[in-house]
Amino acid sequence: MKQADIDKLRSRKVSPQAHLIHGKQVSSQDERQLEVISPIDGKPFTKIAAGGAADMNAAIASARKTFDSGVWSDMEPKTRKAILLKWAELVEAEALELAVMGVRDNGTEIGMAYKAEPGSAAGTIRFYAESIDKIYGEVAPTAPNRLGLIHKTPIGVIGVIVPWNFPMMIGAWKLAPALSAGNTVVLKPAEVASLTLLRLAQLALEAGMPPGVFNVVTGKGSVVGETLALSMDVDVLVFTGSGATGRRLLEYSARSNLKRVYLELGGKSPQVVFNDMPDFDLAAKTAASSIFRNSGQVCIAASRLLIQEDVHDEFVAAVVEHAKALRVGDPLNMENQIGAVTSSDQLEQNIRFVETAKTEGARLETGGGATLTETGGYYMEPTVFTNVGQSSNLMQNEVFGPVLAVSSFKDENEAILKANGTDFGLSSSVWTSNLSRAHRMVKNIKAGIVHVNTYGGASISVPLGGVKQSGNGHDKSLHALDKYFDLKTAWIAL
Ligand code: ADP
Repeated sequence: MKQADIDKLRSRKVSPQAHLIHGKQVSSQDERQLEVISPIDGKPFTKIAAGGAADMNAAIASARKTFDSGVWSDMEPKTRKAILLKWAELVEAEALELAVMGVRDNGTEIGMAYKAEPGSAAGTIRFYAESIDKIYGEVAPTAPNRLGLIHKTPIGVIGVIVPWNFPMMIGAWKLAPALSAGNTVVLKPAEVASLTLLRLAQLALEAGMPPGVFNVVTGKGSVVGETLALSMDVDVLVFTGSGATGRRLLEYSARSNLKRVYLELGGKSPQVVFNDMPDFDLAAKTAASSIFRNSGQVCIAASRLLIQEDVHDEFVAAVVEHAKALRVGDPLNMENQIGAVTSSDQLEQNIRFVETAKTEGARLETGGGATLTETGGYYMEPTVFTNVGQSSNLMQNEVFGPVLAVSSFKDENEAILKANGTDFGLSSSVWTSNLSRAHRMVKNIKAGIVHVNTYGGASISVPLGGVKQSGNGHDKSLHALDKYFDLKTAWIAL
């Protein structure tokens, strides 16, 4: 990746975008559009279609008709696999264009966006494509005069609702297994980050995916998202986003056809640092990067830092030093390590958390405010609070911004109590040289993932999912496919 290539793409004109329904780009039936504002400078640079219920229903009807036709679900596995592999190839061929367009839309620093968005999406598509001709049904152990076959069958129409922080990566975690299993999909991207997903769907068509297999409808969650979730014709709904929306989706399911709902919601992930950590500098650097990258807009952001008492002050000083050294600015400038906050609303919400933390007695060690306001964009300083009370707003609730809450603990028991002392259970990490303690912490921390002496970067081969109010079900790994297959029994008298 070269800066000159990024600069060539950064102001490329993006024409107004339509929905993708049954393989065709179509405007909203009432012609409504939403302006797309770049968080880099706060300026609009294109428009997307603001869908209504009629547009969403047309997409669902297309997905249903296409599923029932068998054109995708009954396609020979090697052909379906070849299409998905071609799709991954097309995504990779356009990786820089996709990454830059995504950054203009949501503000993630380009280095991270390039790897985590098109790079990760292509890898995810390939991973599930490869599974297509390697997953078998089962023959049950039965009496000799009976045959029990367990078929894995695609379920039908999958509704996918994704957020704005990593639209392609999170989108691919759901789309690739859903499509590999032979289902059809209707995708509703976040209104502030739809552009790359529209292009991803277009590339699927170019790779040979039949029209109607992968439809995209853009617009407001409260309009098209709600129509999708309330539909009687959607069999499964998979979602990543806020707890508030997740709760609504469960309600919509109960009010409609009891569609299965899988939720990946928020987190308040703890990073637990013991005094016997194997590498002080690595731990401190990781503590900073794992909350501040993408301005803290990462589901698994390590937003709580719990440090053993006797190393607390020294460790905080090192983390603060790393935080201060991070260069915040134009996310399309490769020299900047932290880009923009996605929207002005999100920035305001971050600042409200800071103000409340101050009134609750937390000590501000660095940051705390918006920065680079002269650019018109939305940027925030990496922010560290110490002395954060266990029951305070900042310790308990997800900011989804670059704000780290630090506290201390005496011993392993207190560390576990504090680590588990929120409603969430998505991610976590332990820093220690003691192997037995590492395993005890893995067992005792209630979270979908416990990192040991590292943070993030877990490959597609391992699952990601939350416990407690961080959600249910798993993305990534072969286990993700369980959401997209039905088990059907054939019980045969011989
Ligand atoms: P965030 O705080 O990350 O924006 P949201 O849960 O609001 O989280 O958004 C995640 C996704 O959910 C977005 O695509 C958004 O449009 C969608 N969404 C928001 N409200 C609803 C709703 N009432 N029904 C369905 N989808 C919704």
